[in-house]
Formats: sequence, structure tokens, C-alpha cells
Amino acid sequence: MMFMKERNVLVDYCKLLKTRGLTKGTGGNISIFNRESGYMIISPSGVDYDIMTTEDVVVCDLQGNIIEGERKPSSEFPMHAIFYQKRTDINAVVHTHSLNASVLASLRWSLPAVSYLVAFAGKNVRCAKYASFGTPELATHAFDAMQDRQAVLLANHGLLAGAGNLATAFDIAEEIEFCCEVYLKAKTVGEPAILDDKEMAHMAEQFKTYGQK
Ligand SMILES: [Zn+2]
Repeated sequence: MMFMKERNVLVDYCKLLKTRGLTKGTGGNISIFNRESGYMIISPSGVDYDIMTTEDVVVCDLQGNIIEGERKPSSEFPMHAIFYQKRTDINAVVHTHSLNASVLASLRWSLPAVSYLVAFAGKNVRCAKYASFGTPELATHAFDAMQDRQAVLLANHGLLAGAGNLATAFDIAEEIEFCCEVYLKAKTVGEPAILDDKEMAHMAEQFKTYGQK
């Protein structure tokens, strides 16, 4: 099988989506882009994460032609492909139906800088215009609203994060879900203070060298 390493990593992160509480049922999906071949390694449509194996993972090109795999690729395939086609800084996409991001997205609110952790994705996280799941329109709306950001809320749906590698994209999805919870809880008791753009730009710089070498 092609891309065994990527298949294994992808299955591990799909299971993490559930154990870390970032999605329910078979919701959400993950992909990795291999820029050399132009192929995408993506989670299958509607397969339970608990029983998902490397064989269930699908390899396809950015037009949606299946290169290797018995399963149908994720229905959100267009929303993954558009980022690989149009942004060279993104080689992995994580889409979740995490609760707090979904609540914020149902209000069609953007996430402001309620915590310095929002800087994982940018100075804020916008909410994209609504379109039905799996459509090219949703892909376009998500792409437009994620301009200069690493994450975007999907109206009445969930969250999408993208980064140079899967570990980082997953981290962003997790941090932004946490920040959505902070924002919603703060709003129940008052008006949270929002960090200014200068501080958020500073935080984004700090994150570049944060953690282990
Ligand atoms: Zn979804």
C-alpha cells in the first residue's frame, strides 16, 4: 500500500478526535497532502473511528479521483482539496464538530482574541458563510474566511484547522475549541477583554519558537 506512514498517523489522529472530545459519532475528517505526488491521504466517509484501520484510508488526487482505497473518501473532500490547491503553507487539514466551536458557529459569531491561545490560528477566527456540507460552496466559504488564518468556524456546522503538518493542525483545532469554550463561558457572566492586534502579532511570533526544538 502507498503512504503507509501517513495512513498510520492519520488513523491515530482520527481516533484522537474522539478520545479528546473533538467530535461525536463519525463526524469530522482529517487529511494529509503529499505535495511531491500531488496526492491527498484522507479519512473515509462514515467509518466509525473506533474500528477504522489503515486499509480504510483513501488516497486520491485533488480532483477526487481515487488512486488507492476501497472506501469512499470523506464527503468534505472539496473543503480539504481547496486548501492544498491554493495555500502552500497547508499540508494537513483537521475538521471537527467540537461542541463549543459548533455553538459559536451556530450563533455565526467569530472568535475574538479572548486568550493569547487564539494566536495559534491568527488574531481571531472568523465564521464562514453557511453552505450545505460536502459542497464546493462550503469549501469556497471556508477558504475565503480562513484568509491569513490557520482556522475557521463553519456556520451551523463546526471547525476547520490547517497547518504545515498534522500534529500542528490538530493542536490548533484543540486550542481553538478551548478558546471557544472560554469565550462562551465569559459571555455568560460579562464582556470578556479582547487582546489587541499588536499583542496577538507578538504571540504569533512567540509560538514560532515555543516548545521543544
Ligand atoms: Zn462536518
